[in-house]
Amino acid sequence: SIAFLNNAYLPLQEARISPMDRGFLFGDGIYEVIPTHHGKPVGLSAHLKRMANGLAAIEISNPFDASQWQDIVSTLTEQNATALATPYIGIYLHVSRGVEPQRHHAYGQDITPTVFGYGFAMATPPKTKREEVTGLHVALSEDLRWQRCHIKSTSLLGNVMHYQQGVSKGKNETILVNQQGEITEAASCNVFAVINDQIVTPPLDHQLLPGITRQLVIDSLRKEGVIVRERRMTKQELLNAQEVWLTSSSKEITPVLSIDEQVIGEGSPGKVWEKCLDIYNRYKFVL
Ligand code: PLP
Repeated sequence: SIAFLNNAYLPLQEARISPMDRGFLFGDGIYEVIPTHHGKPVGLSAHLKRMANGLAAIEISNPFDASQWQDIVSTLTEQNATALATPYIGIYLHVSRGVEPQRHHAYGQDITPTVFGYGFAMATPPKTKREEVTGLHVALSEDLRWQRCHIKSTSLLGNVMHYQQGVSKGKNETILVNQQGEITEAASCNVFAVINDQIVTPPLDHQLLPGITRQLVIDSLRKEGVIVRERRMTKQELLNAQEVWLTSSSKEITPVLSIDEQVIGEGSPGKVWEKCLDIYNRYKFVL
């Protein structure tokens, strides 16, 4: 795979950073994953905006403007197309605060950020028909992460531990519940549910990442006059929902068939899911 490191393109195996990089020592950085399908990115400007917001939130000055980032994304997509031999290439972008001579919690103001990117083979998007799609079996767990989950930080240990909790139970993901008994998100996805025939997803706040797929789903459904309620959702409502879906750049919209021991709806991908994925697919490159 071809990588981008500090203004140069090179083979990923040759990319090297200093162990004194604050990204390595502190997880002090921001990242993005941008999906591309047949060379076309999905939600590119929204991904770049979220990265800019994250960098501003942690006081790293954005090393590139939007058109320079777009250039890096399209170059990485093109350069990786042949080697990866798939139409679904993910572009990983990462900006860390940079290298300092001493390890110290406080950061200096004049450090040059480290910029890293590479292309990787993404999972194939879900099949679009109820009979063909592979649904997910997920775990449910108390959300034990920090209070700044809206920042797409490279400090992912909380998410990694929650994801692994699911894996160790033989599950595909872990949905998280806060101390008030409300759903926040999953370890690497946002959550939607169909409750009393209404499509519901938790509202944006510090407890969850503002997923680009989540927003594209909401925007495309609204364009078609389908109502989406952004409201808090309890654990009981989720377990009793007619349908549950997870959204992310790689999963797009994927149905959840069970949560721990609880079967969701009829235990098969739902009709509302099928309709909404179809609408999403019609809008995802144009929104
Ligand atoms: N929530 C978390 C914690 C994530 O890491 C991700 C991204 O992988 C998502 C939600 C989904 O975000 P997006 O749709 O932008 O990929």
